[in-house]
Amino acid sequence: MSQKLEEKQQAIIDKEVKDIQLYINGEFVDAASGKTFDNLNPFTNEVINQVAEGDKADIDKAVEVADKAFKGPWGKMKQAERLSYIRKIADVIDKHIDEIAPLESYDTGLPISQTKKMVSRAANNFRFYAEMVASRMVGEAYQVDDQFINYTIHKPLGVAGLITPWNAPFMLETWKIAPALATGNTVVLKPAEWSPVTANRLAEIIDEAGLPEGVFNVVHGYGETAGASLVAHPDVKLISFTGETTTGSEITKNGADTLKRTSMELGGKSPIIVFDDADFDRALDACTWGIFSFNGERCTANSRLFLHENIYDQFVDALKERVQNIVVGDPMDEATQVGPLIHTKHFNNVKRYLEIAKEEGAEVISGNVAEEHKRGNFIPPTLLLNVTNDKTVAQQEIFGPVLSVMTFKEEEEVIDLANDIDYGLAGFVWTKDIQRAHRIAQAVDSGMFWINAQNVRDLRIPFGGSKASGIGREGGHYAFDFYTETQVIHVALQDHHIPQFGKK
Ligand code: NAD
Repeated sequence: MSQKLEEKQQAIIDKEVKDIQLYINGEFVDAASGKTFDNLNPFTNEVINQVAEGDKADIDKAVEVADKAFKGPWGKMKQAERLSYIRKIADVIDKHIDEIAPLESYDTGLPISQTKKMVSRAANNFRFYAEMVASRMVGEAYQVDDQFINYTIHKPLGVAGLITPWNAPFMLETWKIAPALATGNTVVLKPAEWSPVTANRLAEIIDEAGLPEGVFNVVHGYGETAGASLVAHPDVKLISFTGETTTGSEITKNGADTLKRTSMELGGKSPIIVFDDADFDRALDACTWGIFSFNGERCTANSRLFLHENIYDQFVDALKERVQNIVVGDPMDEATQVGPLIHTKHFNNVKRYLEIAKEEGAEVISGNVAEEHKRGNFIPPTLLLNVTNDKTVAQQEIFGPVLSVMTFKEEEEVIDLANDIDYGLAGFVWTKDIQRAHRIAQAVDSGMFWINAQNVRDLRIPFGGSKASGIGREGGHYAFDFYTETQVIHVALQDHHIPQFGKK
C-alpha cells in the first residue's frame, strides 16, 4: 500500500474493508450456497476481501421478502412517513460521508479527489427524491364537459430490481434506489461484482436508517447468475439497469418472458466538437477533464474529439503537454488525477484497443506511469492521432483514459461524423457562434448535449441516451414514468347514455 495513504484513510480501510455478506430482510447473511469470490484492489491487484456469491436461491429469497414488505408495512405506510425514511438515509450517508470516498477509491481505483465529489451527490439523491415525490408526484385531471372527470394517479409497481456497474458505484446505486424507494417500491440491488465494498456500506447505512425489514436488499454475485435470476423473476416488476450495451440487450431479451419493464442506461462514445472560434483554454480544460477524469471509465466521457482544422496542430500540442503532466498514481492520494483501472480483465481490454489502434495506423501518445506503480492496472492518459471515424478505436467504447483525435472542416461534415456511430449518450460543442452551437446540439443524435460546458447536470433534468446508449429517461420527475404505474380513473358526474344490449 502507498506510503502516501493518510493514517485516517488507512484506519477507515482497516475497519471497513472486511468480508462482505448479502443483506436480505434486514440481516447480513452468507450466500445460500456458502460460496464467496475474491475482491481485488486495483492499485496492487491483491485480494482485499471475500464477497458472498449470491445466486438464484438468494435472489428468490430477497424477492420474496421484498414482495412481502411491499404488500405489508412499506406498501401500507403513509407517504409522509415513507419519505421521512428516505430523508433519514440521506442523513446517515452524510454522517458517514468521510468513510465512503476512501472506500470507493480503494475498491475501484478512482482518484479520491473525484470520489469525494461523487459521494456527496449520493445523499442529495435521497433528499431530492423525497422532495420530488412530496411535491411533484401528482396526477392530472381532465374534465369532459359536465359529464365526466378523469384523473390519473401514480402507483408503485412492487419489487424493483436494480442492476448497477462498477464505475461510480455508490453514486449510481443511490441514483436508482432513491426514486425506487421514494415512489413506494421495494428494492433488490445487484451491485457490480468488481466494486462491492461501498454497496455493502450502503446496506449498513440503510440498515442504520431503520427501514422496515425486506424493503431494501442487496444480493452480491455475478451477472450471469444473480443478475439473470433477478431479471427472470416473475415477481420483479421492473429492472433499472446501468451497464454495457450488450448486457442491456441480453437483459431486454431475458426480461421478455415476464414482460419486464426496463430502463437502460448504456454505453457511450461521445463526440466533443471544437471550432476555431472556441475559447481555446476552456475547451482544452473541458476536453481533458471529460476524457481523463474517473480514469476514463465514464459513460459520458468525450472519447471522440473533432478539432477544426485551423486549430488542430495547436490543440494537439496542448493536449500532448497535458497528457505528459497529468498525475497518474495512487488513487488514495489527493494529488492523483488518473488512477488504476478497475480490474486486470478490463485493463487487458483497454490494452488490446491500444494494440488495435497501432494496427489501424494510429499514432499512440501516452503519459507516464511511475515504475513503482506497475503492479496496478495503470493505463496512462493516451491520445490516438491519425485516426478516422471509421476505425475500431473511434467506434467502440474503450472505457479508459484514451482519446481519439480527429479533424474536420465544415459544420455539416462534423455533424455527420458525430452521428456516424451506434451510440448516442452525450455530445459537446465549443464555439462562440451561439446559433451554430444550437444547430449542432439539435442535429446530434444524443440523449444529452452540452454547449460550452462540461458534463454538469442538475438532478431535475432527464438523464439517458438514444440509439445504443439507452432506452428511457431517469432523473427528475421523468423517473416517475418508470418507477410507477400511471392509472387513470374515469368518473361519471351524471348519468350518461349506456347502450342497452339485450334489453327487451
Ligand atoms: P456490465 O454490463 O458488464 O455490468 C453491469 C451490471 O450488469 C453488473 O452488475 C453485472 O454483474 C450485471 N450483469 C452482467 N451480465 C448480466 C446478465 N446477463 N443479466 C443481468 N445482469 C448482468 O457493465 P460494467 O462493465 O459494470 O459497466 C461499464 C458500462 O456501463 C460501460 O459500458 C458504461 O458506459 C456503462 N455505463 C452507463 C451509464 C449510463 O448512465 N448510460 C452510466 C455508467 C456506466
